[in-house]
Amino acid sequence: MRIYSSGTIDIPRNVNLTELLHKTGRPLPESHLIAADSLTNRSITLGELRDRAGRIAKALHDKLQPQDQARWALIVPNSVDFLEIFHAILWTGGIVAPINWALKDAEIGHGIAVSQPKYIVAYGAIMDLVNRAIRVAEKELDAAGTTWQRPVVVSIVTPVPGLLHIGTDFLAPAGQRLPIPHYPDTSDRVATIHLSSGTTGKPKGVQLTHLNYVANVLQLFAHDPKQFHAGSRTVTITPWAHIGMTTMPLFNAPYMGLFHHAMPSYNLEQMAAIAGSCQATTFQGPPSVVLQMARSDITKRFDFSHAQTITVGGANFKSDVLDPLLKMAPWKLVQVYGMTEAAGYVAFQKLDEEVPQGVVGYLLPSIEACLKKEGTGEDVPEGAAGELWLRGPNITKGYLFNSDATRSAFPAPGWYNTGDVCKIDRLGRISIVGRTKELIKYKGFQVSPAELESYINSHPAVSESGVAATWDESQLTELPTAWVVLKDEVAHSPAAIKSALKDIHASIDAQVSGYKKLRGGVWHIKALPKNATGKILRKPMAAMRDVPSSL
Ligand code: ATP
Ligand code: MG
Repeated sequence: MRIYSSGTIDIPRNVNLTELLHKTGRPLPESHLIAADSLTNRSITLGELRDRAGRIAKALHDKLQPQDQARWALIVPNSVDFLEIFHAILWTGGIVAPINWALKDAEIGHGIAVSQPKYIVAYGAIMDLVNRAIRVAEKELDAAGTTWQRPVVVSIVTPVPGLLHIGTDFLAPAGQRLPIPHYPDTSDRVATIHLSSGTTGKPKGVQLTHLNYVANVLQLFAHDPKQFHAGSRTVTITPWAHIGMTTMPLFNAPYMGLFHHAMPSYNLEQMAAIAGSCQATTFQGPPSVVLQMARSDITKRFDFSHAQTITVGGANFKSDVLDPLLKMAPWKLVQVYGMTEAAGYVAFQKLDEEVPQGVVGYLLPSIEACLKKEGTGEDVPEGAAGELWLRGPNITKGYLFNSDATRSAFPAPGWYNTGDVCKIDRLGRISIVGRTKELIKYKGFQVSPAELESYINSHPAVSESGVAATWDESQLTELPTAWVVLKDEVAHSPAAIKSALKDIHASIDAQVSGYKKLRGGVWHIKALPKNATGKILRKPMAAMRDVPSSL
């Protein structure tokens, strides 16, 4: 078996996340500021986070006496409170199940059902929504024949009459912190249940251990200490409940000295204003968010002069779409590849490294990778694309209450099949071709939706696009088919739309090999269906065909 890796580093198996909170990768004073927020206008230093998390943990422990490894759902906007309560729960030996507070009842309800928490800590201002979500979870679990006791609900930030409140009821007096726990082996000790994005099905509950997170922090720091410097400042508008953002403010920031300004929800304009005033050095988001930045004029109206990097990951994109953005500020594009099951990051482009189009960087150290033919477990020939399997200390031990999904995700002991089709070049750099489940099979040829989207997005009339298969009954094959959101100035009349679609269709077909041609047509759509992390939901999209097309 051909195994790729970028070397190994020493990762201790007896350091938990509360102990890590008390260590740093470089000298940092306790007064080092690590976070501030727009929800409560609070800010917090490293020393204050250690102190307050320990005191909240003590009060939780004394008043609720939670069992070791009790599960706590956290439905809280990005904020300083989010950091404190997350660390406090870990400190008590609990497991945190973060759920994006901005989701709808049904989605939050599914998240609750997945983790079956004993406690819920929820933003007081959305308590009605949380109660509705609990009923959704009860129904879902009831239908599955699972008994689950209604959780104890505690409010945070905004107090709610009749409910205990974190800030008031759970803060031990100064000087009284819960003792820091120690576990001789953290590899089996679950720290969080994270929901996957739900791109290929309903979100799954990924169990991530203390070892998984400690490993990923050390892997990232060893990979590129220069990029994660103690003067790094950012403003985040994407939810910290999603793995793409969880580890940065929670675990990497205290260890490396990064500063995060937290915004509770998505607002590009406010983000840019705060970024200007806090002299942000780094920005991040999925391609959909970064594209919106590229199409806005925020870099002209606010001060982006301290920008060093803009980090993009989570879904495929063609980097030249971002060329105009790269000229707007002194930042460098950093591509990143990761997933929930890897406790965050798998590959991260280094600051000093230029990469060709499509390459997301080198594997982090201590991750092993191999490329397999779909469904066979056989190696692919050198240089060819295959399904990426990963092994390493940051890889999940499996899904909670879902042994079927765990079994199919781990085709061989220790090896997690990402379901992503990738290539690895001679230097060990990864590029993502697409996802096994989303590849289109045209008469036996495999077509990557992401590749076709990258061509379509470069067309001047196109704002955004999605590609998926439609079924052709007469030929018994899938056909590559595109859905496009046209730019406003193009979509002014039905005739203009039709002509733009025909032009896009002809121009893409002229650029690609025969089997990749858009035989299912190019269809007009007002907005692409997406999940909360900005990824295109191809199944619902494929059902939308009652709109003008190029055919
Ligand atoms: P689900 O597993 O529930 O279907 P999901 O896989 O989208 O959802 P996440 O764990 O949030 O949930 O996302 C990880 C996936 O995102 C990766 O497996 C990969 O398909 C995609 N991804 C992440 N980074 C990149 C990138 N830079 N380029 C292309 N795809 C990426
Ligand atoms: Mg996934």
